[in-house]
Amino acid sequence: MSKLTATAPCTAHAAIVEKTGEVVPQPLLAQRVAWLTGLARDLTARLVAARWTAADLDALASGVGLDGRALPSKGWMAMRRLGWGMAPEPGVYVCDRVLRCTQEQAARMLRLALHRRRLAAAIVATWSANPRARTNNEWEALRALLPDGVSAAEIRNRTRQIRAYRDEHDAFPADLTDLEEPPKVAAQIVLAAADRQLITLERTGPRGARLRVRLPLTEAPASRRGWAWHVLPLTLPPTVPADAMLCTPTLRAKHGRVRVDLPFQTLIEVAPATGHTIGCGFDWGVNTLLTGVTGRLTGSRVISDGRPLTYDAGGVSAKLHRLRAEREHLAAKHRHLERLLVRITPTDRRYAKLSTAYEVIGVEHERVCARIRNLNKALAWSAARWAVDQAVATRATVIYLEDLATLETRGRRGSANARLSGQVRGQVVEAIRHLAAKHTIAVVTVPARGTSKYCPRCGNGTSVLKHCPAPDRLTEQGWTWANCPACGLSCDRDWAAAERIVARGLLGQHATRTHRATGTRTILKVVDGNVARARPARKPTRAARRARRTRTDLRPRPAARDRSKNRATPKRPARTTTNVKNAATTSMTSSRVPDRRTVPAPPPTRGGQRPAGHAPQPGRHTPSRTGHVRNSHHRTGFHHAQATPVLTLTEHRVSPSQATPVRVP
Ligand SMILES: [Zn+2]
Repeated sequence: MSKLTATAPCTAHAAIVEKTGEVVPQPLLAQRVAWLTGLARDLTARLVAARWTAADLDALASGVGLDGRALPSKGWMAMRRLGWGMAPEPGVYVCDRVLRCTQEQAARMLRLALHRRRLAAAIVATWSANPRARTNNEWEALRALLPDGVSAAEIRNRTRQIRAYRDEHDAFPADLTDLEEPPKVAAQIVLAAADRQLITLERTGPRGARLRVRLPLTEAPASRRGWAWHVLPLTLPPTVPADAMLCTPTLRAKHGRVRVDLPFQTLIEVAPATGHTIGCGFDWGVNTLLTGVTGRLTGSRVISDGRPLTYDAGGVSAKLHRLRAEREHLAAKHRHLERLLVRITPTDRRYAKLSTAYEVIGVEHERVCARIRNLNKALAWSAARWAVDQAVATRATVIYLEDLATLETRGRRGSANARLSGQVRGQVVEAIRHLAAKHTIAVVTVPARGTSKYCPRCGNGTSVLKHCPAPDRLTEQGWTWANCPACGLSCDRDWAAAERIVARGLLGQHATRTHRATGTRTILKVVDGNVARARPARKPTRAARRARRTRTDLRPRPAARDRSKNRATPKRPARTTTNVKNAATTSMTSSRVPDRRTVPAPPPTRGGQRPAGHAPQPGRHTPSRTGHVRNSHHRTGFHHAQATPVLTLTEHRVSPSQATPVRVP
């Protein structure tokens, strides 16, 4: 058994002063909480700024206190062992527990800074002549200096930061303290470091909790009497199970309300690292955000059910792209106005107009940033929910993903998903880990190298795929479609990559490693194998039987033709005896996605677009009695994202004895 931690956002609407029974309404309560968080922020900011030197960061990084003993993992205790503290302003009384909370927050920020510092030092040490395109050797040298699990996006952002510094100062930064100002401190109080002298929390029922906390009665309390115990009744959101264990919250005041970020822990079973037979593999798509397949390990062979699972967020990523352009535009305007304002004095008649515009644009910029953040988060959780639902529906016990650390920037510059990649992918992985843990599904990352380069059907990871723009343009150079010259496989590039990911995972599962501190699982060894596509045997329909009997083509397809429109559209060839030999094989075509397409897949049919904000018609998404889903797409929560519906496999469909491998010539 293990513990899964999540945070429930709660709001305290009022409080009671414990001693007097006085009811504190929300505005006053928010003010008192704001005084407390203000005191904490000032102390933390002063403490962080005072220790923002190379020598102090070295001392913290050494992990040894003044007394020669190793620093404890608890942040505030480590700070005390180092003798780092900050006294409040003279005349202000702040109890020791509040000081502890500020030390805890400062320690967390400084430890995060140590991580950034290590990254920056490694990048400077292995600075390449062209940091935009490092060679393989340069990447290896850099990776050797970096801690495990640093993503390519993190490296790219730090590299940009260092390059900007170098362009400006004509030298490398000596330390992180040159590169960055001391980090900004949020107005919040991390109560996790406090004890019963500052806070108590108890559950009052399945949906309620009572938080007792000491709050200041004035902005700068002069003595102990300036503080009083407040009782805050909290209503827990329905996502908190009745048996969950509540942990110490973080308090902050925002827009006149008291926000209580309440972490809670639930007991979950730990998914085993090995012994999986059914697994889902997901590829970070070029054509889609996520493309997945389900694989089954039979003996030493991986068989997939031949159903690609796609989560296409093209519309949302286009929106994100527009918002990002808007953000850059506003930032440029803001900087321009700032430069103009510096040059004139407040007595200038243009000053009032310019300073108003400056403020308005600043607010607008922050709102656009918040919109991007929220959209990224919503998209990541929606995609993760969909991926885990697919795994649950196919009874997979493991989800395989590409390791973001080994995933270099792929894709054409400017393609929708290349723009989406870095920001959303990390969030998707975190969300999948969290959601999968609830269903006891293991999440394992596999090496990303070569997943889309080699054929999943033949050669055990040696036969190189050819990439082209579309299935009917196999001779052209392209990106989205994969074609194997050796075995004739022709399918979506991401689908082929997802098959190779699931094969790498299922075949290499004995080499799964679990990180001791974080519990994340990875496979570093590359074990490749072919993936067969098997579809369950289906009884032929009456039309198919008739087609076979009369030796006619059930679904005639136009032959691939020259795309240039320099002649009249040819008539569909009449059914003659010469095609009959051909027809015998094509009449076996299933309505599911075939192995080899001669034309691009048709766009999914939609019953017209709903206007934004309109609820879908009831029952539209529920499978009818025949198990047929009328709306062909999964509900993603976005109007412009489309995903494969989650269909629970019946016994008939998962039974391997009924599945017949499809032979690929
Ligand atoms: Zn092949």
